[in-house]
Amino acid sequence: MHLLDLLAARAEPAAAVLLTVTRRCPLACAHCSTASTMGGEQIDAAVLKRFVGTFTPGDRPAYVLLTGGEPLLRPELVREIAERVREVGGRTQLLSGMFFAARGRTPAPVRRAVDAVDHFAASVDAFHERQVPRAAVLRVLRRLLDEGKDVSVQLTGLTPDDPYLRRATEDIRRELDDRVPILVTVVRRAGRARTWLPGPGAVPGAVAHRSVPAPCALAAWPVVCFDGTVAACCNQDVVDAAALGRLPAHLRLGHIARDDWATIRARQRSRPLLRGIRAFGPRHLASLAGAGCDGYCAACVSALGDPGTAARVGVLLERPGVRAVERRLDEVVRAGGAEAFLRRYGTEGYRELAALGYEAGAS
Ligand code: SF4
Repeated sequence: MHLLDLLAARAEPAAAVLLTVTRRCPLACAHCSTASTMGGEQIDAAVLKRFVGTFTPGDRPAYVLLTGGEPLLRPELVREIAERVREVGGRTQLLSGMFFAARGRTPAPVRRAVDAVDHFAASVDAFHERQVPRAAVLRVLRRLLDEGKDVSVQLTGLTPDDPYLRRATEDIRRELDDRVPILVTVVRRAGRARTWLPGPGAVPGAVAHRSVPAPCALAAWPVVCFDGTVAACCNQDVVDAAALGRLPAHLRLGHIARDDWATIRARQRSRPLLRGIRAFGPRHLASLAGAGCDGYCAACVSALGDPGTAARVGVLLERPGVRAVERRLDEVVRAGGAEAFLRRYGTEGYRELAALGYEAGAS
């Protein structure tokens, strides 16, 4: 399973689910979007397994993304989830900060967990490197690659022109023979980074008259948050709001202690406001309902979070003409696949690195 397979499905509603295995992490990166520590919360293993147990061969996400915190702090749970997902025909990807690589050895339970997932992704950035040297990470990736494992690197810089990105991509490409895809991102103002990374500031003129559709492809995959609440997107502010019980109704899909996959999948796919956000984007919907807003996701969380605005948008979205445009925009977004996703959300100058090692038809 190549990184491009995942990105190609990124706009497909409920093609995947993100499972936060734990908020805990032994590292202390200054940019950590989840502000993870070893004292962080984690959902009961039995509750996570119950939810995964509701996947069936006929109704399951194609991909299950295991994330944290550091998911490999719960290696047995990771292995059990990965085996269950494979049993019903799905595939798993795990993203790790690779704390174990710093010690030069992979503990047996971690090894079994890594073997059980279909794709292993490593986080690399200057903050991780202060605790886990890049060379140690690349040694582990090299071994996995030589064993035939699908692996990738999620590389994060401060800005698209951060010289660190250029140096690190050159090193990774050389050490791993250009066979490993690299997804390059930049630090977002979330979690611990919120305390030091400057905000984007208000968008001048971003009020009710913004009326150009700008679809949100991220309103497609459910995210199981630290407490078991299921949110409709992976925006960190949305995930944080879930933990505080402050999710707007359209972004709260349910809870894994009570809801099964079929219910979560149906809500993600068919809830009118989410359909509208995927097709038109939140700012356009808010402006159609006459609501002002000062940002893209802010329109989703604040403007559409207002019950009156949400109700007006709901009525608009049911008009036959609007439904027809929505369906057409939805088709266009989904047909764009990995390329469109990278164009919109990838990092300037590094987008093509996501395709390294890709062989058409191999996965
Ligand atoms: S627009 Fe809404 S659904 Fe899309 S990323 Fe922002 S908060 Fe999430």
